[in-house]
Amino acid sequence: MRVSGVNLFSYNHNGTRTKSVRITALPCYVNNRQPDMFSGSISFNANPVANYGQFRALTKTHDIHCIYCGKLLLYGGSLNEMLEKGLFSGSVKDFIDGVMPYRNRMKKGQKDLFDRICKFAKRSPQTHLSEIVQFMYQKAIKKLVKKQSHVLNSMISKSGKLPIHMQEKFDSFIRKHHDRLYGIPHKEEFIPKKFAYQINKKLQSIPNAELQAYLSRITTPMNDSSFSRPDTIIPDKLAAQISKSRVGKLRTAKEFSEYVIYRVRKIGERLDRQDIVKLCDNSQKMINEEKVVIPFSNKELLEEMVKHQLAPIRKSPLYYEMVRLANSFPNSSSSMNSFVVKHRYSDSDTIGYKLLEPAITTIEHEKPRSLGGSLDLTNCVLACKADNNARSSNSMANYLKFCNKKNPQRYFNDVIKISNEQHLINPSDIEGQAKNLYEQGHITVNLSKLRREE
Ligand SMILES: [Zn+2]
Repeated sequence: MRVSGVNLFSYNHNGTRTKSVRITALPCYVNNRQPDMFSGSISFNANPVANYGQFRALTKTHDIHCIYCGKLLLYGGSLNEMLEKGLFSGSVKDFIDGVMPYRNRMKKGQKDLFDRICKFAKRSPQTHLSEIVQFMYQKAIKKLVKKQSHVLNSMISKSGKLPIHMQEKFDSFIRKHHDRLYGIPHKEEFIPKKFAYQINKKLQSIPNAELQAYLSRITTPMNDSSFSRPDTIIPDKLAAQISKSRVGKLRTAKEFSEYVIYRVRKIGERLDRQDIVKLCDNSQKMINEEKVVIPFSNKELLEEMVKHQLAPIRKSPLYYEMVRLANSFPNSSSSMNSFVVKHRYSDSDTIGYKLLEPAITTIEHEKPRSLGGSLDLTNCVLACKADNNARSSNSMANYLKFCNKKNPQRYFNDVIKISNEQHLINPSDIEGQAKNLYEQGHITVNLSKLRREE
């Protein structure tokens, strides 16, 4: 059975809605991987789990710790139940009573905030989560910017060690992110592919399927290589996908980009979506080579630095030092202030959900599927969403270097217990997982307690 969903919104610094996620009671995707059809809870019988959904659902009824951070995993369906019950949107007193048992599953930033919320609740138990976050915003933004500029300054002083020929380019890269951090208008390059990506990310929050399809159709051509230079002539076939009536009237990538931005903006206006309107306005300004204010994003900084700025010195000690620094920017998992700033305009449902979301159970492919990793359960372990996202395309061995060495064994002890006592996990699947952990993560775990099949 599918339960109807609830829309969650978050907003950027300017108070415009930036994204929305439709949460349904039974999410069918594991990290955008394949859907599974499992839709019930595990019963205590001797049928071992056979698919991702069943494996993940074990965390609803059993304690299993994340293979990386060692924290207890939270079944996503249980989180959705809390949301559906209105636990997050009610009084903060009820919220605390309901969520306290899960406090230890939270990541640092979320746990710090939760403790702060508990203090607020003592004084005013009838207030709501969103009111507390709004109240905390002013102090949080000051502290956050202070910490962020500290990291940025460390990067600037380290950049003195870069080879001379790389410095000028690096300086203007840092200048751009510095201006973003302080909200200073800056000239930015318009990248059609990025615009298409940003619009596509917003599609799922647009309630009209026809408009969704239209927006997707007119922005998709922007991914074509002919859009990578503004004065390239767009081939008629691609142009027709944007607008048949404009073929022959508009010619260059720049002209078609402006047309798409104009159409998207109209739709943004019609839907009263300030985030879309703002994105379009900024994009047009970029094309006009006017200055724009873009919110700082540590993710974008890291990506640009790794892919472009530091590519010539890849894998040198300085490269790793810079990457380490860029990774030390506060984010909403590590810093309460970052969380508060990000959710300044979020509603209570979103805030409550996001406090626990990093802990939800995800399937982690030990050998990545992109490298030919197997789809079956011998190549799958359970990890929290935060770690799964943070590992992204890193090798398991690389990522495990940042984790407590005891955590993988702890995970295996959990699954061994479930296998031995209730036969809910196939011993051969556990053996396969351990073998892949050794091959991919260079870690050996002890399986001596595992009862094998006869
Ligand atoms: Zn974890």
